[in-house]
Formats: sequence, structure tokens, C-alpha cells
Amino acid sequence: MRCSCCGERRDPDSVAALLCDDDIRLCKTCIGWLMHQAGGVDVTATLPVSDMDAAEAFYRRAGFEVHRYDDGFAFVTLDDQSVFDLGADARATPTHNAAGCYITSTDADAWHDRLVAAGLPATRVETKPWGMREFSLADPSGNTIRIGKPLSPGPDA
Ligand SMILES: [Zn+2]
Repeated sequence: MRCSCCGERRDPDSVAALLCDDDIRLCKTCIGWLMHQAGGVDVTATLPVSDMDAAEAFYRRAGFEVHRYDDGFAFVTLDDQSVFDLGADARATPTHNAAGCYITSTDADAWHDRLVAAGLPATRVETKPWGMREFSLADPSGNTIRIGKPLSPGPDA
């Protein structure tokens, strides 16, 4: 499928049609560019990890790409999109680390099934009072990764 903006051939799962015109389909790269044109910002958290090797193995097993530049810092991406970064910090242990991040996705249940199939310690998927259907996963350094789907989706619902 070709992106209506850049003209590149893209995986159909990575393009979305405009709400007002189903013939205009944009890829993630062009949507990201458009978001910045509209004044949007990207925020990437840095999660502290006490063991970079263990963190890299954990996040690769969870299906992410991990780009390490040295023993102290790494980018974690998914389909070339930044998700969060990892920063070495010896104090980050499960008993002392309260850091984490939230991944919002329209397919939280599919994420859950994939992570459980990979043998990772995901909690059950639950509906939360803050309007999300979510579960969580703790990494070896004690970072809590919440993954959830909004119960009141956007204009395409
Ligand atoms: Zn494009």
C-alpha cells in the first residue's frame, strides 16, 4: 500500500486513512511529521536499569528493538518508532525502583497475548477506573511498563 503523502510503499498495518476521506492514507512517518507541523511534541522517557545486558535481553524478548550505544544508554524502538530509552543506574532494583512508563495502544490485548507467549510476567488485563483496559509488566530493574487501550477511543469508534 502506498502512502498518499510520501508515496512510499508501506505495510497496510502501518498506514491510516483520514477520517474525512478513506482514499487518503498516511504512513507513520508522515503522521509523525504532520503531528510536528501541528505543534505536537514527542516525549521519550528514560527508564533506569541496573543491568543493561538483562534489560536488553528482556526488551528484545518482549518484541522491541534495542539500540545500544555503550553500556550506559540505549534507545528502545518498535517499528522504528521511539518507545523509551534505557539509562544505566545501579540504584534501579525491583525493591527501590518506582519508575515506569505507559504505552497506549489500540491492541493492548494482542500485546498481552504476545508477551505472555514470550514467557514474560504480565499481569491480567483489567479495566481501570481511569478509563483504560490495561495490564503491566515489570522489567528486571523494577520498571513498571503499563500497556493499555483507551475505553473511549477516538473519532474512528
Ligand atoms: Zn508517508
